Amino acid sequence: MKPPETIRLTPGKRVLFLTKDPELIRRQLRGELDLRMEDLKVEDLLDDINTDAMTPAWVCFSHRPEDIARDAYAGLIVDGKRLFERDALINGNFEVIVSGYRKGVGSSRETAVQAEKWSGIRIAIAASFAPIHARNNISQGVLMGDHEVIHRLQAGEGIPLEEFCDGWDPITRIVIRQGGLFPFSKALAAGEIELPKPHTGPRPMTMAEKILARHMSGDGPHYVKPGDAVVVSVDGGYSHEFTTAQVHYFLEQEYGPDYKVKNPAKLAVFEDHLIYADEVPKMRVFLDKIETLRQLQREFQAHTGVRNFSAQNGVSPGICHEVAREELVEPGDFIQATDSHTCMGGVNNALAWGVGSTEYADLIYQGFTQVEVPESIRFELTGKLQPGVTAKDLMLYILLNHARPQATLDRVMEFAGPGIATLSMDERATLTNMATECAAKTAIVIADDETWRWLAEWRPGVDIERLKARAVAPDEGAEYGGGIHSIDLSSLRPMVAHPGDPDHGVPSDPTNGAWVDEIGDVPIDIAYGGSCTAGKIDDLIFYHQVVKEAVDAGLKVAPGVRFMIQCGSRAVERFVWENGLADTFVRAGVQLIHPGCGACIGCGPGVSETAGEVTVSAINRNYKGRSGPGKLWLASPLTVAASAFTGKITAYTPGMFQKTAAERPALSPA
Ligand code: SF4
Repeated sequence: MKPPETIRLTPGKRVLFLTKDPELIRRQLRGELDLRMEDLKVEDLLDDINTDAMTPAWVCFSHRPEDIARDAYAGLIVDGKRLFERDALINGNFEVIVSGYRKGVGSSRETAVQAEKWSGIRIAIAASFAPIHARNNISQGVLMGDHEVIHRLQAGEGIPLEEFCDGWDPITRIVIRQGGLFPFSKALAAGEIELPKPHTGPRPMTMAEKILARHMSGDGPHYVKPGDAVVVSVDGGYSHEFTTAQVHYFLEQEYGPDYKVKNPAKLAVFEDHLIYADEVPKMRVFLDKIETLRQLQREFQAHTGVRNFSAQNGVSPGICHEVAREELVEPGDFIQATDSHTCMGGVNNALAWGVGSTEYADLIYQGFTQVEVPESIRFELTGKLQPGVTAKDLMLYILLNHARPQATLDRVMEFAGPGIATLSMDERATLTNMATECAAKTAIVIADDETWRWLAEWRPGVDIERLKARAVAPDEGAEYGGGIHSIDLSSLRPMVAHPGDPDHGVPSDPTNGAWVDEIGDVPIDIAYGGSCTAGKIDDLIFYHQVVKEAVDAGLKVAPGVRFMIQCGSRAVERFVWENGLADTFVRAGVQLIHPGCGACIGCGPGVSETAGEVTVSAINRNYKGRSGPGKLWLASPLTVAASAFTGKITAYTPGMFQKTAAERPALSPA
């Protein structure tokens, strides 16, 4: 529904302030209290509300938004109890919800917005919004404003709709005015609206700008600059069993049961996220719903004819992003998929980012999408990583030093420089994968000889010259809104991201970087190696390097520690078994898990079961509750593996397990 030209509060409807004081939220939900912005400071409001808190994974097992809304904010837990009981947001009769800084960080799940919208929320207020979350609000027709806006609304003022469009590109303004993405696309198809065309003239461009310019329709060459709103074709996309059901449901609702998608051969579905949910005791109650999601994905695949990466005999072909970079994503591509780590495809010199279910449904139906050209930030890598230091340590360093001060926010992270040549394609993929933790739009790596060697190895028979012709490199003089930052790889040391300090208001966050040698003794219960970030062949080689050294020194995994390794794809798993790595893991007492997402999303072996458990994990995010209730430290594959044998978080130095028996009393003999 189109919003009115003047936005006012509706008499009888309420405003919910998400305060840091949980008791104030409880009283508002019970209808005992109505707050006003003039009585509060922005600092009184919750910051960094992540989408896992708004709709934890189990809530997303329902695919109908009206069902999801019943458990809005089910992940906000205080003293072990839900702050929002079932139906609390719906029953509160709210139409505006107000929080602090950076609302909607974390997973790209659109369900977070749906939970609010189908509870009656039509305006979300925050000091800032995570980029994908903001897009999801726009797709769903939820207006966004800052604290000045709620102040004025509560004062009885009517605010022109145009003010809610301020700061957005010309096409997004039209989407907001139409009341969301589906109404926008229908109006466009009906010829009711005309899109403005940018007239940017020749200029030096970044890699991202070049790819977007090439995907514009009409005779080129085209040129773009940050802030331009452009309609671009999409080369490919994918969804997984956690999101596909909604895509199917929305398309049926909007276009009827006979809807068709454009270019199904370039689209795919994956079964990866929930594949081992049945092995997590807490997930068993949801198995019927999970089976419905799987069934709806099968229905969608059969209906549309998109490529099928379903599980076979209960084993996933792999995590969608890993398989996509192995098999689907080509240099120069523009890829959209329903998952925040779609950015990983940038390793293949492509532009790829995650979108919500509505945006994805719309673009696979239309065959094109509209984007605002983002700014870029360039990382010029020099030198070479020291032994014992990996690309994960580099990303934890960037998270701390560049993402935390928001230099990467909503920008494309461009990786180039002579240091790139010292990193394998798998290591480069760690860089692009974690762009989403940097709250960046995405990341892209310059193509070089290693890119072509790797693609030729993984795609036998591929025409490399054709791929080279599609590759992009930045122009001399291209502009970087986020600046150009030189990082000497040889200066880095092993890092972790700590789980925060909830008692002092420090949330668990991937930007909580610290040098491993400065954190003191941190005993662990679980060591987990896997996920799209750290389930690649080189990651498995890293784990194996440490495990073999430890096993050869007569060690086993430390008593009381569970060490799990999960391959990113079936191809990785094959490599592990065919090259003897698996034998070493088994000898050491490591639990090897078939490919899939698993513990990373709290749906597989490796999740913590109690708040007291401590995990060191090679995954990409440590948001509270994501992989169980325990404390989760992010670390490199080498650190994870070394810690599994010492029983505490330990950086790996080559040869550390070959010390004499007298020097290893702290270690556990086999
Ligand atoms: S491994 Fe984790 S971060 Fe990666 S796609 Fe799966 S759930 Fe998302």
